[in-house]
Amino acid sequence: MAPTRAHDPRPFKRLKHDHRRCVTTALARAAKVCAASGGRLTALRRWVLELVWQSHRPMGAYDILAALGQKRETVAPPTVYRALEFLRAQGLVHRIESLNAFIGCDQPGEPHSGQFLICRACGRAAEMADGRIDAAMRCGLAEAGFTLERPTVEALGLCPDCRPCAEAGHA
Ligand SMILES: [Zn+2]
Ligand SMILES: [Zn+2]
Ligand SMILES: [Zn+2]
Repeated sequence: MAPTRAHDPRPFKRLKHDHRRCVTTALARAAKVCAASGGRLTALRRWVLELVWQSHRPMGAYDILAALGQKRETVAPPTVYRALEFLRAQGLVHRIESLNAFIGCDQPGEPHSGQFLICRACGRAAEMADGRIDAAMRCGLAEAGFTLERPTVEALGLCPDCRPCAEAGHA
């Protein structure tokens, strides 16, 4: 399963960018993906997706529950889990296992295995699809007799915005 996602060598957005555009684009893409798949993007599912896209920081189910509670009457946790599961199945969000949190996918609709770069300073995560990393893993693990099925990588480090601060000893 080769990733068909376009490779962006600089996946981190600048800290200061017009994030409303990210959200608008994500919601428009979600509508398209669901129209194509026949999935129903209900008001609640759309809300949950909007909350995941609130920032580029992965969001846990409980953060989403809390944020939803501020917006409208309380939503039962299973309802939110089901909404997240729907969004994940549609490829609109990814689950970052190491953080037990969700991040919006900026290229939904195309199957891909992701490399998730998580900044330990600002907490943002960015998604990358570098075929070289996939190939290196596949090859290295084949030598170990291991058949790779899900080449997802979650890498922890510093994003381009935080690295200078860290080097100056501020982070
Ligand atoms: Zn953004
Ligand atoms: Zn993705
Ligand atoms: Zn950062």
